[in-house]
Amino acid sequence: MSQKRALIVLSGGQDSTTCAALACRDFDEVHAITFNYQQRHAIELESAIAVAQALGLASHEIIDVGPVLKGTSPLVSSNTLGQYNCADELPTGVEPTFVPGRNILFLTLASNRAACLNLRDIFIGVCEADFAGYWDCRQSFVDAMTVALGEGIFGQPDGFQIHTPLMSLTKSQSVILAQEVLGDRFAALMALTHTCYAGVKGGCGKCHACILRDRGFREAGVDDPIWQFRPVAV
Ligand SMILES: [Zn+2]
Repeated sequence: MSQKRALIVLSGGQDSTTCAALACRDFDEVHAITFNYQQRHAIELESAIAVAQALGLASHEIIDVGPVLKGTSPLVSSNTLGQYNCADELPTGVEPTFVPGRNILFLTLASNRAACLNLRDIFIGVCEADFAGYWDCRQSFVDAMTVALGEGIFGQPDGFQIHTPLMSLTKSQSVILAQEVLGDRFAALMALTHTCYAGVKGGCGKCHACILRDRGFREAGVDDPIWQFRPVAV
């Protein structure tokens, strides 16, 4: 029987770590790529390295794409990062943190590495339930990219399968799923992850990413292992 092999786009955050755990459950050999796009929260690169090691991934490549992703997003500029007290305060529509073309670039480069590794299955932890404002986190976008990349690299619309197991899950459902998949490794793995846009270890608790992550853990009735590192008590 041939080995099932997959590639995961690993950011080092909660969702991509959960995705990586799922890939490890369902595939025999999992490779990872992480992108350094000069994001403000570059601390997540360290998380990605730690997560890849903890999960025993077959390989982990950090691809430095330099300053190619520009925009008004505070993640890639000096613009002020929004601070909120609760999820109700989050702006509707496209979030100011949206980075145009980010997942287009990431999946394009992932398809190159997948082809080089001679594998056809790519995992990415995008989720449209909590990130409706990010156009490149929707299933319709992933479906379109699947066709474009398959046609462009193999001449087949189904040349690649892009797995998005978190697509329709809420953050709290993702927490429960991660618990199920990781079992007694859940706390240790989640403690390695980084989500905060401000780059604060343990989370600032005020940025868009922290607000959603905190709400997910609270709704799941689970203490987030990163809270132990938070500068201000949760
Ligand atoms: Zn934060």
